Amino acid sequence: MRYADDAQPVLTLTSGPVNAYPDVLRGLGRTVLYDYDPAFQAFYEKVVEKAQKAMRLSTKPVILHGEPVLGLEAAAASLITPDDTVLNLASGVYGKGFGYWAKRYSPNLVELVTAYNEALDPQAVREMLVKHPEVTVVSVCHHDTPSGTINPIDEIGKIVAEHGGYLIVDAVSSFGGMKTHPEDCSADIYITGPNKCLGAPPGLTMAGISDRAWAKMKANPAAPRASMLSILDWEKAWSRSEPFPFTPSVAEMNGLDVALDLYLGEGPENVWARHALTAKAMRAGVRAMGLDIWPAREAIASPTTTAVRIPEGIDEAKLRKEVRARYGVVFSSGRGETLGKLTRIGHMGPTAQPIYAVAALAALGGALNALGFEADTAAGVAASVAAIDADA
Ligand SMILES: *Cc1c(COP(=O)(O)O)cnc(C)c1O
Repeated sequence: MRYADDAQPVLTLTSGPVNAYPDVLRGLGRTVLYDYDPAFQAFYEKVVEKAQKAMRLSTKPVILHGEPVLGLEAAAASLITPDDTVLNLASGVYGKGFGYWAKRYSPNLVELVTAYNEALDPQAVREMLVKHPEVTVVSVCHHDTPSGTINPIDEIGKIVAEHGGYLIVDAVSSFGGMKTHPEDCSADIYITGPNKCLGAPPGLTMAGISDRAWAKMKANPAAPRASMLSILDWEKAWSRSEPFPFTPSVAEMNGLDVALDLYLGEGPENVWARHALTAKAMRAGVRAMGLDIWPAREAIASPTTTAVRIPEGIDEAKLRKEVRARYGVVFSSGRGETLGKLTRIGHMGPTAQPIYAVAALAALGGALNALGFEADTAAGVAASVAAIDADA
Protein backbone atom coordinates (compact mmCIF):
# COMPACT_ATOMS: atom_id res chain seq x y z
CA MET A 1 0.00 0.00 0.00
CA ARG A 2 1.20 3.54 -0.84
CA TYR A 3 -0.18 6.92 0.21
CA ALA A 4 -0.86 9.19 -2.77
CA ASP A 5 0.85 12.60 -2.81
CA ASP A 6 -2.47 14.35 -3.20
CA ALA A 7 -4.11 12.50 -0.31
CA GLN A 8 -4.03 13.96 3.19
CA PRO A 9 -1.20 12.47 5.26
CA VAL A 10 -1.83 10.42 8.40
CA LEU A 11 0.67 12.19 10.65
CA THR A 12 2.20 15.62 10.13
CA LEU A 13 5.37 15.66 12.24
CA THR A 14 6.85 18.85 10.84
CA SER A 15 8.63 21.77 12.45
CA GLY A 16 5.88 24.21 11.60
CA PRO A 17 3.29 24.91 10.62
CA VAL A 18 1.93 22.05 12.69
CA ASN A 19 -1.50 20.43 12.83
CA ALA A 20 -3.64 22.63 15.04
CA TYR A 21 -5.22 21.27 18.23
CA PRO A 22 -8.79 20.07 17.52
CA ASP A 23 -10.10 22.64 20.02
CA VAL A 24 -8.30 25.39 18.10
CA LEU A 25 -9.95 24.21 14.88
CA ARG A 26 -13.32 24.47 16.59
CA GLY A 27 -12.36 27.95 17.78
CA LEU A 28 -11.65 28.99 14.20
CA GLY A 29 -15.25 28.11 13.45
CA ARG A 30 -16.64 30.72 15.83
CA THR A 31 -18.56 33.51 14.24
CA VAL A 32 -16.66 36.29 12.50
CA LEU A 33 -17.52 39.42 14.44
CA TYR A 34 -17.41 42.92 12.99
CA ASP A 35 -14.18 44.51 14.21
CA TYR A 36 -15.96 47.74 15.30
CA ASP A 37 -18.46 45.77 17.37
CA PRO A 38 -17.85 46.32 21.09
CA ALA A 39 -18.05 42.56 21.65
CA PHE A 40 -15.09 42.02 19.31
CA GLN A 41 -13.14 44.88 20.84
CA ALA A 42 -13.63 43.42 24.32
CA PHE A 43 -12.68 39.97 23.02
CA TYR A 44 -9.50 41.33 21.40
CA GLU A 45 -8.48 42.96 24.67
CA LYS A 46 -8.98 39.65 26.51
CA VAL A 47 -6.88 37.71 23.98
CA VAL A 48 -4.05 40.24 24.34
CA GLU A 49 -4.27 39.83 28.13
CA LYS A 50 -3.98 36.04 27.74
CA ALA A 51 -0.98 36.49 25.43
CA GLN A 52 0.56 38.80 28.02
CA LYS A 53 0.07 36.14 30.70
CA ALA A 54 1.51 33.37 28.50
CA MET A 55 4.51 35.55 27.58
CA ARG A 56 4.92 36.59 31.25
CA LEU A 57 5.18 40.22 30.20
CA SER A 58 4.79 43.27 32.39
CA THR A 59 3.63 45.24 29.33
CA LYS A 60 0.95 44.52 26.71
CA PRO A 61 2.18 42.46 23.75
CA VAL A 62 1.28 43.49 20.23
CA ILE A 63 -0.51 41.17 17.83
CA LEU A 64 0.36 41.72 14.16
CA HIS A 65 -1.87 40.23 11.51
CA GLY A 66 0.46 38.10 9.48
CA GLU A 67 2.64 35.09 10.25
CA PRO A 68 5.83 35.85 12.20
CA VAL A 69 7.99 36.84 9.23
CA LEU A 70 5.85 39.99 9.27
CA GLY A 71 6.85 40.60 12.88
CA LEU A 72 10.54 40.03 12.19
CA GLU A 73 10.59 42.31 9.18
CA ALA A 74 8.52 44.94 11.01
CA ALA A 75 10.97 44.82 13.94
CA ALA A 76 13.90 45.56 11.61
CA ALA A 77 11.98 48.31 9.80
CA SER A 78 10.79 49.99 13.00
CA LEU A 79 13.74 49.73 15.36
CA ILE A 80 16.82 49.96 13.13
CA THR A 81 17.94 53.32 11.74
CA PRO A 82 20.94 54.24 9.57
CA ASP A 83 22.63 55.55 12.74
CA ASP A 84 22.55 52.10 14.32
CA THR A 85 25.22 49.47 14.13
CA VAL A 86 23.65 46.03 14.24
CA LEU A 87 25.39 42.93 15.54
CA ASN A 88 23.60 39.98 13.97
CA LEU A 89 24.23 36.66 15.70
CA ALA A 90 23.76 33.64 13.47
CA SER A 91 23.94 29.92 14.08
CA GLY A 92 21.69 28.98 11.20
CA VAL A 93 19.52 30.01 8.29
CA TYR A 94 17.02 32.15 10.23
CA GLY A 95 19.66 33.95 12.27
CA LYS A 96 21.65 34.69 9.12
CA GLY A 97 18.48 35.77 7.34
CA PHE A 98 17.73 38.51 9.84
CA GLY A 99 20.99 40.20 8.83
CA TYR A 100 19.60 40.84 5.33
CA TRP A 101 16.62 42.69 6.78
CA ALA A 102 18.86 44.63 9.18
CA LYS A 103 21.04 45.70 6.26
CA ARG A 104 18.03 47.25 4.53
CA TYR A 105 17.67 49.77 7.37
CA SER A 106 21.30 50.35 8.30
CA PRO A 107 24.48 49.91 6.29
CA ASN A 108 26.34 49.20 9.54
CA LEU A 109 26.18 45.47 10.12
CA VAL A 110 28.63 43.20 11.90
CA GLU A 111 28.01 39.50 12.31
CA LEU A 112 29.06 36.65 14.54
CA VAL A 113 28.41 33.39 12.70
CA THR A 114 28.95 29.89 14.09
CA ALA A 115 28.81 26.54 12.31
CA TYR A 116 25.18 25.63 11.58
CA ASN A 117 25.26 22.62 13.91
CA GLU A 118 26.59 24.70 16.82
CA ALA A 119 25.21 27.28 19.24
CA LEU A 120 26.40 30.82 19.89
CA ASP A 121 28.92 31.20 22.68
CA PRO A 122 27.97 34.03 25.09
CA GLN A 123 31.66 34.70 25.72
CA ALA A 124 32.20 35.27 22.00
CA VAL A 125 29.23 37.68 21.99
CA ARG A 126 30.82 39.58 24.87
CA GLU A 127 34.13 39.79 23.00
CA MET A 128 32.37 41.00 19.86
CA LEU A 129 30.73 43.82 21.84
CA VAL A 130 34.07 44.82 23.38
CA LYS A 131 35.60 44.90 19.91
CA HIS A 132 32.61 46.83 18.50
CA PRO A 133 31.52 49.36 21.13
CA GLU A 134 29.54 51.12 18.39
CA VAL A 135 26.95 48.30 18.32
CA THR A 136 23.50 49.60 19.34
CA VAL A 137 21.24 46.73 18.23
CA VAL A 138 21.80 42.97 18.57
CA SER A 139 19.67 40.36 16.84
CA VAL A 140 19.50 36.65 17.59
CA CYS A 141 17.37 33.64 16.74
CA HIS A 142 16.61 31.43 19.74
CA HIS A 143 15.82 28.15 18.03
CA ASP A 144 17.32 28.10 14.56
CA THR A 145 14.75 25.64 13.32
CA PRO A 146 16.51 24.45 10.12
CA SER A 147 19.36 23.25 12.39
CA GLY A 148 17.31 22.09 15.39
CA THR A 149 19.67 23.96 17.72
CA ILE A 150 19.04 26.30 20.66
CA ASN A 151 21.02 29.44 21.48
CA PRO A 152 21.54 30.55 25.11
CA ILE A 153 19.49 33.73 24.72
CA ASP A 154 18.99 34.41 28.41
CA GLU A 155 22.77 34.64 28.88
CA ILE A 156 23.20 36.58 25.65
CA GLY A 157 20.44 38.95 26.74
CA LYS A 158 22.30 39.73 29.97
CA ILE A 159 25.46 40.58 28.05
CA VAL A 160 23.60 42.79 25.58
CA ALA A 161 21.83 44.58 28.44
CA GLU A 162 25.16 45.27 30.17
CA HIS A 163 26.42 46.74 26.90
CA GLY A 164 23.28 48.86 26.67
CA GLY A 165 22.17 47.50 23.28
CA TYR A 166 18.66 46.82 22.05
CA LEU A 167 17.96 43.13 21.59
CA ILE A 168 15.71 41.64 18.89
CA VAL A 169 14.86 37.97 19.44
CA ASP A 170 13.26 35.49 17.04
CA ALA A 171 11.60 32.96 19.35
CA VAL A 172 9.05 31.77 16.80
CA SER A 173 9.74 28.05 17.11
CA SER A 174 10.72 27.87 20.79
CA PHE A 175 8.13 29.94 22.66
CA GLY A 176 5.44 27.69 24.09
CA GLY A 177 7.62 24.58 23.78
CA MET A 178 10.26 25.41 26.38
CA LYS A 179 10.96 27.97 29.08
CA THR A 180 11.50 31.23 27.22
CA HIS A 181 9.91 34.63 27.73
CA PRO A 182 10.81 38.13 26.52
CA GLU A 183 11.79 39.42 29.94
CA ASP A 184 13.88 36.32 30.76
CA CYS A 185 16.27 37.38 28.01
CA SER A 186 15.81 41.16 28.37
CA ALA A 187 14.49 41.33 24.82
CA ASP A 188 13.43 44.72 23.46
CA ILE A 189 11.50 43.11 20.63
CA TYR A 190 10.62 39.42 21.02
CA ILE A 191 8.82 37.83 18.10
CA THR A 192 6.81 34.63 18.23
CA GLY A 193 3.58 33.27 16.84
CA PRO A 194 0.80 30.71 17.25
CA ASN A 195 1.80 28.39 14.39
CA LYS A 196 4.60 26.43 16.05
CA CYS A 197 4.45 25.30 19.67
CA LEU A 198 1.04 26.81 20.44
CA GLY A 199 -0.59 24.54 17.87
CA ALA A 200 -2.64 27.11 15.95
CA PRO A 201 -2.51 27.96 12.23
CA PRO A 202 -0.07 30.45 10.69
CA GLY A 203 -1.46 33.96 10.36
CA LEU A 204 -0.43 36.05 13.38
CA THR A 205 2.64 37.46 15.11
CA MET A 206 2.85 37.94 18.88
CA ALA A 207 5.45 40.54 19.82
CA GLY A 208 6.78 41.50 23.24
CA ILE A 209 8.07 45.08 23.17
CA SER A 210 9.99 46.90 25.91
CA ASP A 211 9.24 50.48 26.91
CA ARG A 212 12.58 51.65 25.57
CA ALA A 213 11.93 49.89 22.24
CA TRP A 214 8.64 51.83 21.96
CA ALA A 215 10.55 55.05 22.64
CA LYS A 216 13.23 54.25 20.05
CA MET A 217 10.65 53.33 17.40
CA LYS A 218 8.69 56.54 18.05
CA ALA A 219 11.89 58.57 17.67
CA ASN A 220 12.60 56.91 14.32
CA PRO A 221 11.04 59.07 11.58
CA ALA A 222 11.35 56.20 9.10
CA ALA A 223 9.54 53.65 11.30
CA PRO A 224 6.56 52.42 9.23
CA ARG A 225 3.18 53.99 9.92
CA ALA A 226 -0.05 53.48 7.98
CA SER A 227 1.63 50.36 6.66
CA MET A 228 1.30 46.58 6.93
CA LEU A 229 4.85 46.69 8.35
CA SER A 230 3.90 49.07 11.14
CA ILE A 231 4.27 48.10 14.79
CA LEU A 232 3.60 51.64 16.01
CA ASP A 233 0.08 51.69 14.54
CA TRP A 234 -0.86 48.76 16.78
CA GLU A 235 0.48 50.12 20.07
CA LYS A 236 -2.92 50.80 21.56
CA ALA A 237 -4.93 48.27 19.55
CA TRP A 238 -5.18 46.03 22.61
CA SER A 239 -7.47 48.56 24.29
CA ARG A 240 -11.18 48.38 23.56
CA SER A 241 -11.25 52.17 23.61
CA GLU A 242 -8.88 52.50 20.63
CA PRO A 243 -9.78 51.77 16.99
CA PHE A 244 -7.83 49.22 14.96
CA PRO A 245 -5.55 50.65 12.25
CA PHE A 246 -7.12 48.12 9.85
CA THR A 247 -9.22 44.96 10.12
CA PRO A 248 -7.56 42.36 12.33
CA SER A 249 -7.61 38.66 11.31
CA VAL A 250 -10.77 37.83 13.20
CA ALA A 251 -10.76 34.06 12.67
CA GLU A 252 -7.08 33.80 13.58
CA MET A 253 -7.79 35.69 16.80
CA ASN A 254 -10.50 33.13 17.58
CA GLY A 255 -7.94 30.35 17.08
CA LEU A 256 -5.28 32.12 19.16
CA ASP A 257 -7.75 32.61 22.00
CA VAL A 258 -8.29 28.84 22.24
CA ALA A 259 -4.58 28.05 21.81
CA LEU A 260 -3.72 30.36 24.72
CA ASP A 261 -6.48 28.83 26.87
CA LEU A 262 -5.07 25.36 26.17
CA TYR A 263 -1.50 26.45 26.96
CA LEU A 264 -2.39 28.24 30.18
CA GLY A 265 -4.92 25.58 31.19
CA GLU A 266 -2.53 22.65 30.78
CA GLY A 267 0.15 24.63 32.58
CA PRO A 268 3.21 25.91 30.67
CA GLU A 269 5.59 23.72 32.72
CA ASN A 270 3.59 20.62 31.75
CA VAL A 271 3.57 21.65 28.09
CA TRP A 272 7.35 22.18 28.12
CA ALA A 273 7.85 18.81 29.85
CA ARG A 274 6.05 16.87 27.11
CA HIS A 275 8.07 18.70 24.43
CA ALA A 276 11.31 17.83 26.28
CA LEU A 277 10.35 14.19 26.78
CA THR A 278 9.32 13.73 23.14
CA ALA A 279 12.68 15.20 22.07
CA LYS A 280 14.54 12.94 24.49
CA ALA A 281 12.73 9.85 23.17
CA MET A 282 13.53 10.97 19.61
CA ARG A 283 17.24 11.42 20.28
CA ALA A 284 17.54 8.11 22.15
CA GLY A 285 15.88 6.32 19.24
CA VAL A 286 17.92 8.06 16.55
CA ARG A 287 21.17 7.04 18.24
CA ALA A 288 20.05 3.46 18.93
CA MET A 289 19.06 3.12 15.28
CA GLY A 290 22.65 3.80 14.23
CA LEU A 291 22.06 7.41 13.19
CA ASP A 292 23.18 10.72 14.65
CA ILE A 293 21.50 13.98 15.47
CA TRP A 294 22.57 17.09 13.54
CA PRO A 295 23.35 19.33 16.56
CA ALA A 296 26.98 19.01 17.68
CA ARG A 297 25.93 18.31 21.26
CA GLU A 298 22.90 16.93 23.03
CA ALA A 299 22.87 20.03 25.27
CA ILE A 300 22.06 22.35 22.35
CA ALA A 301 19.47 20.07 20.69
CA SER A 302 16.02 21.61 20.45
CA PRO A 303 13.14 20.26 22.54
CA THR A 304 10.72 21.19 19.74
CA THR A 305 12.45 19.73 16.66
CA THR A 306 14.87 16.86 16.22
CA ALA A 307 17.23 17.28 13.28
CA VAL A 308 18.59 13.93 12.12
CA ARG A 309 21.86 13.85 10.20
CA ILE A 310 21.42 12.08 6.87
CA PRO A 311 23.83 9.17 6.41
CA GLU A 312 26.27 9.14 3.49
CA GLY A 313 24.68 7.97 0.25
CA ILE A 314 21.05 8.71 1.22
CA ASP A 315 19.09 11.31 -0.74
CA GLU A 316 17.16 13.32 1.84
CA ALA A 317 14.30 14.31 -0.46
CA LYS A 318 13.84 10.68 -1.49
CA LEU A 319 13.85 9.63 2.14
CA ARG A 320 11.01 12.00 3.06
CA LYS A 321 9.12 10.96 -0.05
CA GLU A 322 9.43 7.33 0.99
CA VAL A 323 8.36 8.09 4.57
CA ARG A 324 5.25 9.78 3.24
CA ALA A 325 4.42 7.18 0.58
CA ARG A 326 4.88 4.15 2.86
CA TYR A 327 3.50 5.43 6.14
CA GLY A 328 1.62 8.64 5.41
CA VAL A 329 4.02 10.56 7.68
CA VAL A 330 5.36 14.04 6.87
CA PHE A 331 8.73 15.33 8.08
CA SER A 332 10.44 18.65 7.31
CA SER A 333 13.58 19.09 5.22
CA GLY A 334 16.53 21.31 6.05
CA ARG A 335 16.60 24.83 4.60
CA GLY A 336 19.30 26.70 2.72
CA GLU A 337 22.66 25.40 3.91
CA THR A 338 21.16 22.49 5.83
CA LEU A 339 18.96 21.34 2.93
CA GLY A 340 19.79 17.74 2.03
CA LYS A 341 21.99 17.27 5.09
CA LEU A 342 19.29 16.62 7.67
CA THR A 343 15.65 15.66 8.10
CA ARG A 344 13.63 17.40 10.77
CA ILE A 345 11.04 15.73 12.90
CA GLY A 346 8.93 18.33 14.63
CA HIS A 347 7.35 17.86 18.02
CA MET A 348 5.46 21.06 18.56
CA GLY A 349 2.11 21.69 20.19
CA PRO A 350 -0.23 18.76 19.53
CA THR A 351 2.59 16.57 18.16
CA ALA A 352 4.74 17.04 21.26
CA GLN A 353 3.57 13.70 22.60
CA PRO A 354 6.21 11.03 23.23
CA ILE A 355 4.32 8.28 21.38
CA TYR A 356 4.73 10.26 18.14
CA ALA A 357 8.50 9.90 18.55
CA VAL A 358 8.04 6.13 18.39
CA ALA A 359 5.95 6.40 15.23
CA ALA A 360 8.44 8.81 13.67
CA LEU A 361 11.37 6.50 14.36
CA ALA A 362 9.53 3.48 12.95
CA ALA A 363 8.74 5.41 9.76
CA LEU A 364 12.27 6.79 9.50
CA GLY A 365 13.87 3.38 10.00
CA GLY A 366 11.53 1.63 7.59
CA ALA A 367 12.14 4.16 4.82
CA LEU A 368 15.92 4.13 5.36
CA ASN A 369 15.94 0.35 5.06
CA ALA A 370 13.90 0.59 1.88
CA LEU A 371 16.54 2.95 0.46
CA GLY A 372 19.34 0.54 1.33
CA PHE A 373 20.66 1.96 4.61
CA GLU A 374 20.66 -0.56 7.42
CA ALA A 375 18.91 1.22 10.25
CA ASP A 376 18.20 -0.80 13.38
CA THR A 377 14.56 0.21 13.62
CA ALA A 378 13.76 -2.24 16.42
CA ALA A 379 16.58 -0.89 18.60
CA GLY A 380 15.47 2.68 17.87
CA VAL A 381 11.87 2.00 18.82
CA ALA A 382 12.94 0.10 21.97
CA ALA A 383 15.25 2.93 23.06
CA SER A 384 12.60 5.57 22.58
CA VAL A 385 10.01 3.56 24.52
CA ALA A 386 12.59 3.02 27.27
CA ALA A 387 13.20 6.79 27.44
CA ILE A 388 9.46 7.38 27.77
CA ASP A 389 9.09 4.64 30.40
CA ALA A 390 11.99 6.04 32.43
CA ASP A 391 9.83 9.11 32.99
CA ALA A 392 6.65 7.24 33.91
C1 LIG B 1 8.77 29.27 11.45
C2 LIG B 1 9.76 30.27 11.79
C3 LIG B 1 9.60 31.60 11.40
C4 LIG B 1 8.44 32.02 10.55
O1 LIG B 1 8.88 31.90 9.26
P1 LIG B 1 8.37 30.98 8.09
O2 LIG B 1 9.62 30.60 7.36
O3 LIG B 1 7.47 31.77 7.26
O4 LIG B 1 7.67 29.78 8.68
C5 LIG B 1 10.56 32.51 11.80
N1 LIG B 1 11.61 32.14 12.55
C6 LIG B 1 11.82 30.87 12.94
C7 LIG B 1 13.00 30.53 13.77
C8 LIG B 1 10.90 29.90 12.56
O5 LIG B 1 11.09 28.62 12.94
